[in-house]
Amino acid sequence: RENLLEVKNLKTYYPIHGGFFKRVVGNVKAVDDISFTIKKGETMGLVGESGCGKSTTGRTILRLIKPTGGQIIFDGEDITKISGSRLRKARQDFQMVFQDPYASLNPMQMVGDIISEPIKNFERRDKKELEEFVKSLLVRVGLPEAAYYKYAHEFSGGQRQRIGIARALALNPKLIIADEPVSALDVSVQSQVLNLLKDLQEEFDLTYLFIAHDLSVVKHMSDTIGVMYLGNLVEVASNKDLYSEPLHPYTQALISAIPEPDPKLRKERIVLQGDVPSPANPPTGCPFHTRCPMAQEICSQEKPPLKEVRPGHHVACVLY
Ligand code: SF4
Ligand code: MG
Repeated sequence: RENLLEVKNLKTYYPIHGGFFKRVVGNVKAVDDISFTIKKGETMGLVGESGCGKSTTGRTILRLIKPTGGQIIFDGEDITKISGSRLRKARQDFQMVFQDPYASLNPMQMVGDIISEPIKNFERRDKKELEEFVKSLLVRVGLPEAAYYKYAHEFSGGQRQRIGIARALALNPKLIIADEPVSALDVSVQSQVLNLLKDLQEEFDLTYLFIAHDLSVVKHMSDTIGVMYLGNLVEVASNKDLYSEPLHPYTQALISAIPEPDPKLRKERIVLQGDVPSPANPPTGCPFHTRCPMAQEICSQEKPPLKEVRPGHHVACVLY
């Protein structure tokens, strides 16, 4: 399958202002030179602790934030620098599903209007026809047609996330960036929403960038997985390879923390010492060296690049 999204050396820095004149005194390197690709119809999972740059990566790809450097190639077109009507047109093809369905939907707006709004912004449609279409979307995401006339505040968290998904689908996008789409939901409804996303992917040939901190959720959803730490991608591998043979010491620690119900399969948990350093003042060399149980002399001096060490398995660590 061909690539739908190619991210090359993407950087997103936020300026830090300081002193009396509020001059730029430094940068927070929220995303610091990452590269990956997603094939059409596949799901790339992006995992890491909060503040590692996953959400900023998603928002930069959607061009909600201006990248500091690098390239975003979407469906063969470089969208890194486009603006105005070209960006508006490109935006039809990528949509976001947000973490918090409570915050991302206006509770005072009728659900039918919430979902119709993006369509009205892009195309003219007959009123009746639009209403029928929106109702069919509601049914497709598992809500009754009558939800059209209700308000977002009348629904539960899981139902609201279904409304958010219907809104994301309204423009028939190619790429959906889902940023922690189930982490605000009860565990009992999480798998229903995840399975809905999977079914929709098949039906509409959608490509997902699926962002989450929960490794078992990402495992359930993804073909390929990227692990982020302090603005860097430290490992990228297929779902199977990442979980069966994690190479980066950080990935190994994350995976060792997943609860394993079968005591025979249970491995010793690797507990990391110390806190994640501030992205405003990252360590020199390997970004993980201040917490890495395998760290060596050289790790504080040189930043290891992300290298393909086995077919399709990339890792940024001097051990390989
Ligand atoms: Fe650990 Fe060094 Fe590998 Fe970084 S490069 S993950 S500090 S062993
Ligand atoms: Mg986030």
